[in-house]
Amino acid sequence: MYRCKICSRLYDNYVKYCDCGGSDFEKIVPEPEKTDFADSAKKLVSWIIFILCILGAVVVWFI
Ligand SMILES: [Zn+2]
Repeated sequence: MYRCKICSRLYDNYVKYCDCGGSDFEKIVPEPEKTDFADSAKKLVSWIIFILCILGAVVVWFI
């Protein structure tokens, strides 16, 4: 992503000139989706706990 330093317009690909006539661009690195990863990790952990609980209940039931 490139952002025009003059009008802050965003471009997905590098362009030589902005619509406003500016040629000064600042490269923007998209932020990694850490929150999504944390959410899926939390879901995975809760699923593992859930399955362990069921397994524990089954084991207790068989004993
Ligand atoms: Zn511009």
